[in-house]
Amino acid sequence: MRFAPLVDRIAGKGAGAWAIHMAALQRRDSGRDVIFLTVGDPDQSAPQPVIEATVAALRQGRTGYAPITGAPAVRDAIARRFAARTGRACTADNVVIVPGTQGGLFAVLQCLAGAGDEVIVPEPMYATYEAVVGVSGARIVNVPLRSELGFHPDLPALAAAITPRTRVLWINSPHNPTGAVLTRAEVEAVAELCRRHDLWLLSDEVYEDLAFARPHISPWSLPEMAERTVVVSSLSKSHAIPGFRLGWVIGPPDLTRHLFNLLLCMLYGGPPFIQDGALAALTRELPEVAMLRETYRHRGALVSRRLRAAAHCRVIEPEGGMFVMLDVRGTGLGSQEFAEGLLEREEVAVLPCDGFGPSAAGHLRISLTAAEDTLEEAAVRIVRFANGIHPDGRKR
Ligand code: PMP
Repeated sequence: MRFAPLVDRIAGKGAGAWAIHMAALQRRDSGRDVIFLTVGDPDQSAPQPVIEATVAALRQGRTGYAPITGAPAVRDAIARRFAARTGRACTADNVVIVPGTQGGLFAVLQCLAGAGDEVIVPEPMYATYEAVVGVSGARIVNVPLRSELGFHPDLPALAAAITPRTRVLWINSPHNPTGAVLTRAEVEAVAELCRRHDLWLLSDEVYEDLAFARPHISPWSLPEMAERTVVVSSLSKSHAIPGFRLGWVIGPPDLTRHLFNLLLCMLYGGPPFIQDGALAALTRELPEVAMLRETYRHRGALVSRRLRAAAHCRVIEPEGGMFVMLDVRGTGLGSQEFAEGLLEREEVAVLPCDGFGPSAAGHLRISLTAAEDTLEEAAVRIVRFANGIHPDGRKR
């Protein structure tokens, strides 16, 4: 039977990167003690007040349909929190509840760009972005981020990529996989490009609460940006509850009206008991959020410090987020080859970054979603593997 052309546009090239994860799962099933540092699934449990509120909502029978764009109280709580964070007006009319950042990015792209349009995305980029743009029918235009610049944006290159067909410029800070946190000057420069060329600025802020090196700056906080900025985020990372699928889109009211129509024909609202649970996280600053940030900051610094002993490798210490990047180009091995060898010899699973974009070729992404002693042990094994590639100390 024949399928729609869409099926080709959602079949990502990044699938190869997950081969290591699959191989590691098989090894674990066959009884080996594998350390998994592949997926960014938080290892901490959900904050207790969120669990209590969710369970209470279920017991109160909050299992019917919810409003299509989310419960007004939850949208209002998100708007207040965001207005306080950015110092700019934001009301419930700007907010739509979606199933995670992922669901939000997907829905937003369908409303912002289509066939004949171009969407600029710096690469490496989070692995799902390409398919999200593909589904919309627009063309993705990647602009390389350079490892040597700490994967911070190359602003002249971004400007040069803009054409009359460009509709959207898409940023992600703190960044997955590179851990880069944009400076205020960089966010301002990107915003200025969008103003000058009349573009949407789409900002994936899923790691907003995990910025270490400098404060997270949302473009929404900048003057005259609210009309063209769309922010997408969630509780997945900040509260370690990705399974709740509780995310939001913040944008101009015109966009939220279009999103209503899209969500009406696609989702018909999210689970009300989940939204009640989320309210417990959104109406107060739970201490777990700061604890998670400190945990990832500490783990990032620790793993980076340990990995500096790996011969011919270069550590890119995260400025935010949940991952450390390791540049293994100097070892003479490709990242796939390195990751396969590491799994085989040392039972540590990490992701080759090639699937995130050509500029991340030769890099590994090491997830910090494991206890400190596990991360220390993993670092010892990675260093041992790297130092064993050229036992005489010289490169091939
Ligand atoms: N964007 C980025 C950059 C991510 O890393 C992730 C999750 N790993 C997502 C979006 C999706 O997050 P959510 O659970 O909120 O859908």
